[in-house]
Amino acid sequence: MSAAAPASGPRPLPGRPPLSILMYHQVGEFTAPRNHRAGYCHVHRFRTQMAFLARAGYRVLSLDAAIAGLFGDGELPPRGVVLSFDDGYRNFREHALPVLQHYGFPAAVYMISGLVGGRAEWLGADGRDTPPMLSASELRELRQAGITVGSHTVSHPRLSRLAADAVARELRDSKAQLEDLLGEAVPHFCYPYGDYSPSVRDAVIDAGYRSALSCIRGAANTADNVYELPRKAISYGDNLLGYWWKLAMKNARKDRRGGY
Ligand SMILES: [Zn+2]
Repeated sequence: MSAAAPASGPRPLPGRPPLSILMYHQVGEFTAPRNHRAGYCHVHRFRTQMAFLARAGYRVLSLDAAIAGLFGDGELPPRGVVLSFDDGYRNFREHALPVLQHYGFPAAVYMISGLVGGRAEWLGADGRDTPPMLSASELRELRQAGITVGSHTVSHPRLSRLAADAVARELRDSKAQLEDLLGEAVPHFCYPYGDYSPSVRDAVIDAGYRSALSCIRGAANTADNVYELPRKAISYGDNLLGYWWKLAMKNARKDRRGGY
């Protein structure tokens, strides 16, 4: 964010340790993609990464625990990690969930509410495969398993390019649809492509969300506020050294608002 844009919502409390919110998309068995490499994580690498987190003393936190630790009176461990999965692909349930359950790791899945039980049609426009998305019953099953389900809009648009009323619909309708489906509040949001503007961020607040994940790079304790939380994208090509490097060293803030 530029200095000209006033921060909205609470800022992280001073002295909080770096916390890495990792960004994943699909987890499965893929051949090496030529581009969009942050869109894919091979399940073998994913298993190795989760084993590393467990062995190296990282503490995987739920998003709620991380937010309480950053912005409220919760405690943050020195090596805290949050695992976030964008879009709501069915391969999360097939490939990522069993590994997460093996280690007892919490995670957050951000669902595109208009594609529940459908396919990732917006990827097709880019010439990519259109994998199946989670169904309503699968999303309920994930909640039963303790996975946080957040909103990733109704149709995955670039929100900064939409008129204000269309932005409000994407934010409010996705929240209402997921709340109907799950029978509980859906307080967490994630910007498609990490794309937003100050007015989009304010619309997220107006729609009643309590947090939003961006694609600003860096550790989460560098956030301007709880509606612009930075993340670290995990790429198909990250070997374990690269993974550790992102976790331990890539904490400085590097702003960007789009691209995934
Ligand atoms: Zn997305």
